[in-house]
Amino acid sequence: MGDNVLLREKSDNGASALAAGNGAPTSNKQTFTPRPEVWAEVPDEQWNDWRWQLKHRLNSVEELGQIVNLTESEKRALRANNLFRVDITPYFAALIDPDDSDCPIRKQVIPTDAEMVPFTSMMEDSLAEDRHSPVPGLVHRYPDRVLMLVTTQCASYCRYCTRSRIVGDPTAQFSRTEYDAQIDYISRTPQIRDVLLSGGDPFVLPPKVLDNLLARLRAIPHLEIIRLGTRVPIFLPQRVDDELCATLSKYHPLWVNMHFNHPKEITPEIALACDRLSRAGVPLGNQSVLLAGVNDCVHIQRKLVQELVKIRIRPYYLYQCDLVEGSGHLRTPVGKGIEIIEGLRGHTSGYAIPTYVVDAPGGGGKIPLMPNYLLSMSDHKVVLRNFEGYISTYEEPIDYKPHDPTTCPYCKAKRPEPGQTGITGLLDGERFNIEPMGFEEIHARGGAKHRLRSEDTHKWQPFGIGTETSPVIQIGQPIETANHELL
Ligand code: SF4
Repeated sequence: MGDNVLLREKSDNGASALAAGNGAPTSNKQTFTPRPEVWAEVPDEQWNDWRWQLKHRLNSVEELGQIVNLTESEKRALRANNLFRVDITPYFAALIDPDDSDCPIRKQVIPTDAEMVPFTSMMEDSLAEDRHSPVPGLVHRYPDRVLMLVTTQCASYCRYCTRSRIVGDPTAQFSRTEYDAQIDYISRTPQIRDVLLSGGDPFVLPPKVLDNLLARLRAIPHLEIIRLGTRVPIFLPQRVDDELCATLSKYHPLWVNMHFNHPKEITPEIALACDRLSRAGVPLGNQSVLLAGVNDCVHIQRKLVQELVKIRIRPYYLYQCDLVEGSGHLRTPVGKGIEIIEGLRGHTSGYAIPTYVVDAPGGGGKIPLMPNYLLSMSDHKVVLRNFEGYISTYEEPIDYKPHDPTTCPYCKAKRPEPGQTGITGLLDGERFNIEPMGFEEIHARGGAKHRLRSEDTHKWQPFGIGTETSPVIQIGQPIETANHELL
């Protein structure tokens, strides 16, 4: 930090406030993130009040200029009136290096005019979430789980936000009627066993509203787990108070995934907030976004994941940045993500390694990527390499007795995944192939029915494939139609 920082009681590392074993504070000594001078006179009571923090967020050249030496590019972007919303809590702003235009904290929340530069394939809704929404704000993309958008508001706003099309816009806020429709859809869709509350950020909801939503969801018998995605602990750790922890602990099994991108975000305040959540019985995970100039470095990522596990947060995903408007300058090549996983796997605890994913543009869902460890294979052996380049073989059994699905109770009771069994459906023998839409029409070449290409499609039916509940898709039957029939 620069000279204008008022140093309060210093700590070299937020995690140091916690004991290695059970997360209990090692001492009663409270540590603080240093504050810029402009807030020197703010009483601790106010500074540590999440409502004060929200009320005093910064969003203009004048406000941010008091704590950061803004570049001309940042000033232009802050004065533009058509960019994604800017708001930064004083707490998070205090982490910015005022003199470093490359500060990784600053790049996440202060816009530059690079946001105005279009790039190939950018989209407003790059994950096609709105197309997968049966009711407003409920994204049903995967077979057994849904994403429930409960607010458009966040504590601060990330410049690469996937949902910048609605996030930050108070007029796009979800209403009580829309909550009702979301919960009604979940209630009448028994295949949903998992709901993820996100937004915006569910932790900025008024406590009673969050409590009410969680209670209504927990009352749905087939809903097994509730998850919340939040960046509030990073932007506003003060919000993780006893009241919030008590609310969450009423609705277990409940999981929380956070969003740390850089080790500088792990402060004493956050270590304590995460400790509070852990003590409330909430398992903690982290989802980072791979960002150019912020965390596109093996060693930054290694430090980040190691610091996270020290405060009992399990690194879960490392996301490739989405093709969202305004984020072009923050994107990296996919190879950078592969390089990072190469630099983590084997080099640090497996427990600290996230799954690197590309969320497929157009709504294909998350696709995991990693370096290739399988070098070759025969009918009885695979050739593998480890992180050091050590090449080994694994001799496979030649007398393997295959699993018998006809006697396995779990196979018999498998959950239906209407129209979404995908590759596992092919392996299970439910289907023979997956065709692009229109495949049959293209290959019919416009010819008429004739004596060889008759109405009798039996000759294309593979023996032993398909079941009564999962019939084989007929050649030429559009997959969407087939999916519908399976529902
Ligand atoms: S906290 Fe999440 S939803 Fe909010 S702006 Fe950041 S990425 Fe978007």
